[in-house]
Amino acid sequence: MPVVSTKEILQDAFARRYGVGAFNIVNDLTLEAVVAAAVALRAPLIIQTSVKTVKTAGIDTIYALFRAVAERADVPIALHLDHCPDRAVLSACLKRGWNSVLFDGSQLPSVEECKRQTIEVVAEARTYGADVEGEIEGIKGVEDGVGSDDAADIYSLETAVDFVRSTGVDIFAPAIGNAHGVYKSEPVLNAQRVSDIVAQIPLPICLHGGTGLSSAQFDDLIARGCAKVNISTALKIAFMRANKDFFQEKPTNTDPPTLLKFVGERVKQMAMEHIRMFHSDGKAA
Ligand SMILES: [Zn+2]
Repeated sequence: MPVVSTKEILQDAFARRYGVGAFNIVNDLTLEAVVAAAVALRAPLIIQTSVKTVKTAGIDTIYALFRAVAERADVPIALHLDHCPDRAVLSACLKRGWNSVLFDGSQLPSVEECKRQTIEVVAEARTYGADVEGEIEGIKGVEDGVGSDDAADIYSLETAVDFVRSTGVDIFAPAIGNAHGVYKSEPVLNAQRVSDIVAQIPLPICLHGGTGLSSAQFDDLIARGCAKVNISTALKIAFMRANKDFFQEKPTNTDPPTLLKFVGERVKQMAMEHIRMFHSDGKAA
C-alpha cells in the first residue's frame, strides 16, 4: 500500500472512534519493528520523528528509510514530524515529503503569535499536500530537548476553538493534564475538554504523553475523539530495557544481528500491545 496522508488515516479513526498509534521511532531498527507490528495486526500507522531524530540521523536518511520500509508494508502509513518549534526544520521536512507536521508554537509569547505563525505553516503545508497538527499549550515535560517541565497555561475553550477555526489545522493537541515522559503520579485528566472541543469543531484530537495511561483512560479519550495517540517514552523504555536484558542474559555475545533481532522483537511487542489497546488492529482497509 502506498504511503497515505495523515488526515486520511485519522479521518477514518475519528469517524469510527479508534486510535491510531503514532510512534516516535529513533532509527531503522525501531522503524522496522513498529511497521512489522502494524502489518501483523492489519493496523493503520503513523510514524513520527522528533526534531532530534531528524537532526541526528539526517533528513534524507530518515526519509529514505521510511519510504523503503513503508512501501513494502500493506497497511496505510504516514510520516509525521513531532513537536517542531523550528520553522526551518519544519520547512525542510515538508519539502522532503513528510505527510504532516506539528508546529509547536506553545513557547511563543502569545496565542495570537502562535496563531499567526500556524496560519503560515498551514499555507506552506498545503503546497505539498501535507497536513498540520496545532497546539497552543505546551504539553508538560521535555521530550527530546523540546518543551518545558512547567505546567502549561490552559486557555479557554473559546480560545482553543478559535485557534482551530482560524488556522485550519487538521489535528489539534490540547493540554488535558497529560505529560511527556514517565508519569510521576497518577495523571488527572480533563477528558471533558476533548468532548467540549470536538462538540464545537469536530476534528481528530491528538493525545500526547500516552505512555503510562491505562487501558480505560485510552478507551475513554479515544471515544471522545482522540484519534491520534502518541507513543514515545514506551518505545524508548522497550528499546533500552531490551538492550540491558540482552547483555545480562548473554554477557559474552559478540554477534550484533542476534542483539538487533532481540531488541527489534521487544519493540514490536510493545507496539502490538499499544495497537491492540487503541483498537486499530484489523482497521487497515
Ligand atoms: Zn508530545
